[in-house]
Amino acid sequence: MGKKTGSEFIKSLELKGVSRRDFLKFCGTAATMLGLSQLYAPKIANAIESMSKRPPVIWLDFMECLGCTESFINATHPEVDKIILEILSLEYHEAVMAAAGDKAHKNLWDTVEREEGELICVVEGAIATKIPSAITIGGMTSMQIMTRAAKASKAIISVGTCATHGGTQAASPNPTGAVGVEEFIRSQGINTPVINLPGCPVNPENIISTILHYLLLEKLPPLDSMSRPKNLYGATIHDNCPRRGHFDEGRFVETFGTKEEVLGYCLYKVGCRGPSTYSNCPEVLWNNRQNWCIGAGAPCIGCFEPHFWDKFKDFYKPLPDVELPGVKTSADKIGIAIAAATAGGVAAHLIASAAKGRLGKSGEDKKEDKEE
Ligand code: SF4
Ligand code: SF4
Repeated sequence: MGKKTGSEFIKSLELKGVSRRDFLKFCGTAATMLGLSQLYAPKIANAIESMSKRPPVIWLDFMECLGCTESFINATHPEVDKIILEILSLEYHEAVMAAAGDKAHKNLWDTVEREEGELICVVEGAIATKIPSAITIGGMTSMQIMTRAAKASKAIISVGTCATHGGTQAASPNPTGAVGVEEFIRSQGINTPVINLPGCPVNPENIISTILHYLLLEKLPPLDSMSRPKNLYGATIHDNCPRRGHFDEGRFVETFGTKEEVLGYCLYKVGCRGPSTYSNCPEVLWNNRQNWCIGAGAPCIGCFEPHFWDKFKDFYKPLPDVELPGVKTSADKIGIAIAAATAGGVAAHLIASAAKGRLGKSGEDKKEDKEE
């Protein structure tokens, strides 16, 4: 940790097998992630190289599957994680650090004490509030660790749906009382700013973009009412889905294994939650921007949404409570975060399609649906 000159920074990267050219390429990608033109890439490079101090980061793991860590360390291009870890000073991450046991735990609390007020705290996993011992590390519960770390942090980045909203642990009946970090710390009267990056797992590009925004512009990105960065979570999957044209034209996959599936029609009727899911998956994709769920023919299950396990259960059934021509829906109540406007939007599109006589289903088919 500590101040490095620009050339020292590049030398450190080169020792990790990352060339200056790779670094400049990374800065170009960073400019794109931040919504800036490529002309900003040299300025970003200069800003990173001249940073006076590597910001101290602790990465806490609570009730989770470590999928978000996997997602991050296998990030897009192999060099991205190395560059990010050169920019930041990762002081504690129990899953990837060499130290273990008491030594690791001491390192955590020494860092918290030393860097109080300067720390960036990344959290993966939910907090257990009803059965605190469900997650105990070094003799401390997740509630105790989170309380102390949150008070010492400048900002908290909750990564993944477990840390943002409890995740699978919070699914009904939620025996451990799992909650997301923001809900927990607010209940303790702690006001440290929280940035929520939901996803199961989190998309590594969303972590990188958020960290860079914070470091380079020295402020939090604009957040929505759920503390999610608006630039990353401001639109639904449905808004930007490449299959949207099929939806608008009423061309649907009704059953898997049919020619409609081969033709890449809209997956709404086989359960796609894209209309109710706020996510940038259609733009950033996954696995080196190779592909994503809907691109691979799988309906979106809405993993970026709070409480998606409960709210979106029966994953292969169409979204409920959307009375639409040609679509049979259940009477289940739609989840709280499924905005009425979204459901209205879905209805409006299908109704418009029906009005134009473009729905793939005939009147006979509709009758069958009602009789089901
Ligand atoms: S319902 Fe799903 S597959 Fe169809 S257009 Fe919307 S997001 Fe894409
Ligand atoms: S497409 Fe849907 S299910 Fe797939 S990662 Fe994105 S939000 Fe999750």
